[in-house]
Amino acid sequence: MILANITGNTKIAGVIGDPISHSMSPSLHNGWLKKMKIDGVYKAQQVSADKLKEFFSQMKNDGWAGCNITIPHKEAALEFIDEIEETADEIGAVNTVVNQDGKLLGFNTDAYGFWQNLKNGVSDIENYKEKAVVVGAGGAARAVVYALKKAGVKEVVIVARNPDKAEELLDIDENMAIEHMDNLEEELENTSMLINTTPLGMKGKGSFDWPLDSLAKDALVTDIVYNPIETALLKKAARQENKTIDGLGMLIYQAMPGFEAWFGQRPDADITALKKEMIATWNL
Ligand code: NAP
Repeated sequence: MILANITGNTKIAGVIGDPISHSMSPSLHNGWLKKMKIDGVYKAQQVSADKLKEFFSQMKNDGWAGCNITIPHKEAALEFIDEIEETADEIGAVNTVVNQDGKLLGFNTDAYGFWQNLKNGVSDIENYKEKAVVVGAGGAARAVVYALKKAGVKEVVIVARNPDKAEELLDIDENMAIEHMDNLEEELENTSMLINTTPLGMKGKGSFDWPLDSLAKDALVTDIVYNPIETALLKKAARQENKTIDGLGMLIYQAMPGFEAWFGQRPDADITALKKEMIATWNL
């Protein structure tokens, strides 16, 4: 038995991953449920790769309204979902599942979350669409480059420590360049937006001296890492007067569509207040 028994009218959703104890999603969703007085619960469930199939088939029968999927199952889950919507299909990863009367629908809301966070952070996002440099080429980078391309950013360069591996991202859009991490400083010369999608800067992941000397003062810098809220990259960019946007808003925005689908109401959208609360609760 992987899923909990369901009793009464309580709607159940959750997040699955392996490991899962680090996830902030339960606190975020349960906070919304409490605030909005919805009879629901959002759980964190550790599911190993060999139990994914079992989890999803049980989910259909056990009445979960749906779930979020996090590392390392976002790609593998595609195989067990009945219907994949277009964005998830193009990104090649599912982070939100909705159980529609026993049929599992798979969505990707990371790209939406990333772009909404930028739009919330600057009023003139149109001014940053000349050239984006995306550092990292993992799962999150896939959603980020998809969002940039959909938004019409003219030039997208992926900078990675392993350029051969990064080429996999070209299946999203072949019209992107790939550069080695050693060329980052050079790439930043005429960049309008710099995005970190690697864990560099995350608590416990070691430090990195970002080579920002060539970055223009009017470039936008964002980090999808949100723990700490002000990463070394954002600190350095702010010191040289670049506009910066932290990654916590992305986490909040990507959570909203799932919550609405499972619990029937759009969550409270006071991002500033919510962020303040989360930073204090999680000591970010
Ligand atoms: P992932 O699939 O493991 O990808 C990580 C990427 O970073 C890979 O390209 C990896 O390169 C690269 N990388 C790792 N360590 C590096 C280093 N020391 N130097 C240079 N490159 C390095 O992870 P992910 O799912 O994309 O997540 C990445 C980060 O984004 C995590 O910190 C995660 O918490 C955060 N995230 C935030 C949100 C949000 O809502 N704000 C959403 C998703 C993810 P290799 O391929 O060569 O290993």
